Amino acid sequence: MNTIFEHKDTFKKEYVKKLSDLFQVELKDSTVYQRYSVLAHLLDESLKENFEKTNAYVKENNLKKTIYFSMEFLMGRLITNNLQNSGYYDVVKEAFKDLDLDLNEVEHAEEDAGLGNGGLGRLAACFLDSSASLGLPLYGNSLRYREGFFVQEIKNHKQVEHPDPWLKKEFIWEEKDEANAINIPLFGYVEHTQLINPVWIKAIPYNVKIVGDKNGVVTSLRLWATDASDLQKHVGEDYLRMVHGVDRQLYPDDSNEEGKTLRLLQSYVFSAAGVKQAIKEHKDLGRDPKDFHKFYTFQINDTHPTLVIPEMMRILMDEEKIGYDQAWSITTQTCAFTNHTILSEALEKWDIRIFRNLLPRIYEIVQEMNRRFRSILVTDGRFNKEQVYLMGLIGQNHVRMAHICIYGSFSVNGVAALHTDILKNEEMKDFFTLYPDKFNNKTNGITHRRWLIHTNKELTKILDDTIGSFWRDDLTKLELLDAYKNDSKTQNLIDQMKKTKKQALADQIFEKQGVKLDVNSIFDIQVKRLHEYKRQLMNILHIIYVYQKLKSDPVFKENYYPHSFIFGAKAAPSYYMAKQVIELIDTFADIVNNDESTNYLLKVVFVRNYNVTYAEYIMPAADLSEQISTATKEASGTGNMKFMMNGALTIGTMDGANVEIVREAGMDNNIIFGLSAPEVSEIYANNGYKPREIYEKDQRLKDVFHFVRSMHKNPAHFDYILNNLLNSDYFFVLKDFDSYVTAHEIANEYYKDRNGWLHKSIMNIAHSGFFTSDRTITNYNNDIWHLNKIDLKK
Ligand SMILES: *Cc1c(COP(=O)(O)O)cnc(C)c1O
Repeated sequence: MNTIFEHKDTFKKEYVKKLSDLFQVELKDSTVYQRYSVLAHLLDESLKENFEKTNAYVKENNLKKTIYFSMEFLMGRLITNNLQNSGYYDVVKEAFKDLDLDLNEVEHAEEDAGLGNGGLGRLAACFLDSSASLGLPLYGNSLRYREGFFVQEIKNHKQVEHPDPWLKKEFIWEEKDEANAINIPLFGYVEHTQLINPVWIKAIPYNVKIVGDKNGVVTSLRLWATDASDLQKHVGEDYLRMVHGVDRQLYPDDSNEEGKTLRLLQSYVFSAAGVKQAIKEHKDLGRDPKDFHKFYTFQINDTHPTLVIPEMMRILMDEEKIGYDQAWSITTQTCAFTNHTILSEALEKWDIRIFRNLLPRIYEIVQEMNRRFRSILVTDGRFNKEQVYLMGLIGQNHVRMAHICIYGSFSVNGVAALHTDILKNEEMKDFFTLYPDKFNNKTNGITHRRWLIHTNKELTKILDDTIGSFWRDDLTKLELLDAYKNDSKTQNLIDQMKKTKKQALADQIFEKQGVKLDVNSIFDIQVKRLHEYKRQLMNILHIIYVYQKLKSDPVFKENYYPHSFIFGAKAAPSYYMAKQVIELIDTFADIVNNDESTNYLLKVVFVRNYNVTYAEYIMPAADLSEQISTATKEASGTGNMKFMMNGALTIGTMDGANVEIVREAGMDNNIIFGLSAPEVSEIYANNGYKPREIYEKDQRLKDVFHFVRSMHKNPAHFDYILNNLLNSDYFFVLKDFDSYVTAHEIANEYYKDRNGWLHKSIMNIAHSGFFTSDRTITNYNNDIWHLNKIDLKK
């Protein structure tokens, strides 16, 4: 490597020069943003050589690739990650010191790339980092939304959404690749498999470099923008509005038919563009389309990219003139599907009318797939009429995306052990009967380079000093820390680390919203998307109970360790219940934080605009990690892993990856409560849950409800929430309340024993190695992709 980053003196010279070239300013007069921009430009340029080297290596060695299709990539900032992984961080840090610049401040000038709304998108981002770091030729594929997930403001305790026009500032890490633009046909009608009078749209790829961890490998995330196509004859106002609507926004409003069409259009465009690009690349290398599956795997992340399957069939049959059977064989040896949900209402389906109108040829292909699939089911003989109907790719006037994925993929995986079991034995039981060999589990993970090394330098140093630094390349080595769980020196270091990280978060919160938190209090944190199944409501109801108890029970007050409860969550703009819960939390926060008789013991904060950058402060600062979903509902969770890796204890249900967290770290080192998955399933099956009976028998709940009715000048203000709990309580908030109270009493007692707590905290860190996404990606590769590694040192 011959780059300006080799030595700090070369770097300093080039840095000052670039500042002058780009902005015509001298160092002393430059703004923080200019300083950031110059650093990012220099780094991005220096990565170009390795990006090309990586591409050349993959090509020359005929390596198979995985294309990771995902509607979302929740990347956050890239500057720190890219500096760390390229191995230039220390040189830049030294150089900045010499130049009297604040590197930390400059890193913070980057906007979050918020092209995702939660765990699924963040998982995709972690997978890119792990794949590149393991030297695997995996490439991301998605849309280049000009507006990311909305920016959240809280006004009068209510959520207000603002657009996130993040591309208004230059996104330095991307590079337009006009030469590989692709034309995509839409609408029209079909005659003899030919699409007549289509509307053409152009998709233009932008490559975002993905830097492997000090291995020289640079892969990419390909984001497709849309524009008017040269093939389109009539370019009217409506056409341009459509073309520029496709890449405008992540998850546009889909409450009307136009919005629904737009969503389907978005899914189709990035799927079709990715498929076409790969087939083109394959052919350009002189390979036979019939060998496509030997050189590519398409990993379909949830059902948004389902159309990859029929689109691949369309290209192979209509353009490559391959017969249906062979095209199907190639397609189903290429595609693999990851399922992320079990909430059946969340399973994606499309009204036939919308689907057929937008994609007439694709619809025809899906119909043929459906005809053949049903005939397989009927011939099989194990499925009755009703089952055949319910398993169909099309039914109840809808196209069922998950069913297309299962039928069209050679692998179907769940994202945690419990989740995969539920898929096999309940949700997708009939499909599992039909295709037992397709189903497999890949427990999610997180990249420890971002969620430990970058976000927690203090813990990183403790680990390096205690067990040596090789854990960074093999996170299971963290187990060596187990031997120090009772070592008072190590315990003290962990204690100090937590205080430092809690202070950093407390400073952020104070600066942003003026609430002061005591770092000696327990930081009890629940941050994640707002959803009823995640039960933020149960959390706040419990806190209200605690507040009343503090005011009425001196013995309780005497024994209560100071707590700071921290929430962060965005609610989908049209999700009424979720927004009510935010209002309830934020309204209560105001009351409790201003009550001087208790606020030295109890505070509540709802942090604004929870995103990746905020998470980087929050994860290391937690003592307790709230993972309290109704058992069976959280497929995996990844926030739970970030907290664990940073030394928090989990207070949680036996759901998702929590099951594996306690398997790894030990039941005694976390606090588990509530209904189990089988218990939940049984209650649903028997249909016998009566929440009002629980309420009537529990004075604590009555008092809490009474208080909620006093929180607003209109006593009925939160009745939508309360009535829902009394009459339906689909997620068992009332049913689990009692055991949740007990779990918190246990946590309170645990914390008073500082050494005991630190022992548990160390056990969580020491046994978090399983949750690195390096392990997850290795599992995917060994079982599904079978990619060979890029080795640039050869
Ligand atoms: C990790 C992460 C999530 C996922 O959190 P869960 O608790 O697993 O739902 C969501 N949003 C952001 C910003 C994250 O970093």
